[in-house]
Amino acid sequence: MYKTAVAAGDRSRIASLQFLLRFMLLASSYLAFGYLGIQLATLSYGISLIWPPIGIAIALLLRWDLRLWPAIIAGGIPLEMLASNRDWLFGLQISLSSAIPIYLCCSLLRQFSFDARLEHQKDLILFGLIAILGCPALLAFMGVALLTWHDVIMVTDFFTAWWNWLLGDITGVLIFGIALLTFDLNRLAILFKPGMLLVFGLMLLLGMELFVWQATPFVLALSLLPVLGLIWIAMRTNLAVTSWVVLLFSCVAGYGALNQAGIFAGLPDPPLGTWLYITSLGMASLIVAVTSMENRLEAEQMRYAIGATNLGTWDWRMDEDRIEVNDNWFRMLGQPPRSGEIRFVDFAELLHPQDRDPTQKAIGQYLKGQTDQYRLRLRMRHANGTWRDIQSTGAVTERDFRGSPLRMCGTHMDITEQLQTRLELDKTYNFLNRISEQIPGAIYQFRMDAQGHASFPFANGAIEKLLGVTVEKLRETAQPCFANIHPDDLPGFLESIEESRQNLSLWRAEFRVNSPRIGWREAYSRPQRLEDGSTLWHGYITDISERKDMEIRIQNLALTDELTGIENRRAFLNQLEQEWNRCKRHGGPPSFVIIADIDHFKRVNDSHGHDVGDKMLCHFTALIQQSIRRNDSFGRLGGEEFGILVTDSSLEDIQALAEKLRATVAASPLRIQDGLELSLTASFGIARLKEDSAAFDDALLRADRALYAAKHSGRNRVCMENSHGDPPSARA
Ligand code: GH3
Ligand code: MG
Ligand code: MG
Repeated sequence: MYKTAVAAGDRSRIASLQFLLRFMLLASSYLAFGYLGIQLATLSYGISLIWPPIGIAIALLLRWDLRLWPAIIAGGIPLEMLASNRDWLFGLQISLSSAIPIYLCCSLLRQFSFDARLEHQKDLILFGLIAILGCPALLAFMGVALLTWHDVIMVTDFFTAWWNWLLGDITGVLIFGIALLTFDLNRLAILFKPGMLLVFGLMLLLGMELFVWQATPFVLALSLLPVLGLIWIAMRTNLAVTSWVVLLFSCVAGYGALNQAGIFAGLPDPPLGTWLYITSLGMASLIVAVTSMENRLEAEQMRYAIGATNLGTWDWRMDEDRIEVNDNWFRMLGQPPRSGEIRFVDFAELLHPQDRDPTQKAIGQYLKGQTDQYRLRLRMRHANGTWRDIQSTGAVTERDFRGSPLRMCGTHMDITEQLQTRLELDKTYNFLNRISEQIPGAIYQFRMDAQGHASFPFANGAIEKLLGVTVEKLRETAQPCFANIHPDDLPGFLESIEESRQNLSLWRAEFRVNSPRIGWREAYSRPQRLEDGSTLWHGYITDISERKDMEIRIQNLALTDELTGIENRRAFLNQLEQEWNRCKRHGGPPSFVIIADIDHFKRVNDSHGHDVGDKMLCHFTALIQQSIRRNDSFGRLGGEEFGILVTDSSLEDIQALAEKLRATVAASPLRIQDGLELSLTASFGIARLKEDSAAFDDALLRADRALYAAKHSGRNRVCMENSHGDPPSARA
């Protein structure tokens, strides 16, 4: 706590000391450079051609602290007193008329998020409008107005004085302001590089000559040389360096103006000529410096961006056979970054021999316009002797006036690892496929997204034989698979998937498919939920057609009477139970059960043999089948006793039916060999299915009782159960 307080106290003491120092520096330099300005090129009323204090004040307020503005007054009072031989009150007024516009200008610049380093055109334009033009205009107006009020300047000279004052202030900001704003020791180091020093010295010499040589025919040409030199410096360096060179050069020009020397001597208004020369030179150089700096910054950003991506770049000047490449270009080939310039043959030598011709061809085709992009995979030699796979892309960036390509730029991307991974994946996939070929079914992945779209992201080739759809199609959508499922099985199939999706429970299904051959399939799979809300099943599917057919056959066997082919007792009882349940639930028209028994059947067996007995059973079955409806159940209950279940009937109808059956049987003797005919009759007992009975076979018992009654009353009869019990009524 104590320590931090001390540290904080120290910091604020240092800050205030720094503020004080800066205040004194601004005040004293304002005074000193103002005095220098007055001593130098003064125009009428002691107005200077170059007025450094305004540039110094603006630069320091912007760089350091806006609150330093009273330093302008502190330096301005003695300056004005010295310049005018008047009292401090006069000095205060004049320096206030300077401090106010300077302060306003600086705080206005701050409003526009102005960057005082002036590295961007936007900042230079802002500075030009507000600090180079706006501020001097207001300051000069206030100053001249004050002087006129004090009768120093005659009212008639107001405009001339304002104009001169304005010119001096503009130069002050342009030359001194920008130099101070952008001053940076590190950047100035560039000034002292040998090449730069030479150019700079030469330019200064020419500048001086400018002021020495009078009225020669070469003056105009010579006056252009410093301009070219300055612009060259502006392009090669940055704003800070350029502005210092402009500053130094302006001092030389100022000296020329002071001595009425050189080309300015012959002018009608030498100071104005000098001023114009200095400002236009300054402006032009600074604009060039900022513009080229902005371009350089952009290029640098691009370079950094490309550096971060590991992309190699190439810039091919085709007319000069020169390819400029970046560090990454070399690095991906295991070579140390070099000067960065190669020839086309150097590139071709690094290419895999098999890729040389295709590369030439691809470039040729692209240049001829046969392809709309140059994009090629090539192999290039790595320093360690291996080949790297490179993706090369590019485009023409410059053409001559006839449209022939001059320059092509592009990138190199190392895709060796990418290809390797891809190869490994393919291998794994093939391996999986080959293994799965050895198993009888197919393995698959089935995916359903949250919106219900289903597909098979993976399946081995065998799936086509099982589901009748190719792997490629299934990868997009499972719809063709659903369409191939038997319509009777599809609803249950989809329902079970949905259930498995919701509960994430193991899915198992048996279903029929229509193609490539109608058959049964069985599938198992286990679901898992993915992060995106979709569900993924991994499963196995097999063809169970043979097993299923066997199952169905066994099932049928268990329910069929072997001799007659109709339902056996068990199957008939099943039907009876189902019907009884249906009646209990839904009611509706009554259903009946008839029991039929062949009369004196034992005698047939005894006198003609068991085989003839069997034939008679089949004959009887056929007779009954002809006379009942298809959906009436008909089964052999045992021996020569049969059951018929008639649904949706009435008392009259059932009695009529039974009577018809009795008559048919009685009228249809069984033909045996030698034209011998065996007549037969049967007895029938009928009972109605009652919803309120205790058990489903209750009706069977009642029908049996009715049959018994029919036998007793003489056989070859139909007997209806009687609602009050025995004896039932019988009809013959
Ligand atoms: P009723 O008029 O009273 O029905 O006399 P019935 O002789 O028809 O009746 P009974 O129950 O006395 O005899 C039935 C006979 O049916 C006894 C048995 O030998 C014979 N039988 C049972 N099953 C078969 C079979 O599958 N084939 C043959 N041929 N005879 C069978
Ligand atoms: Mg019998
Ligand atoms: Mg019997």
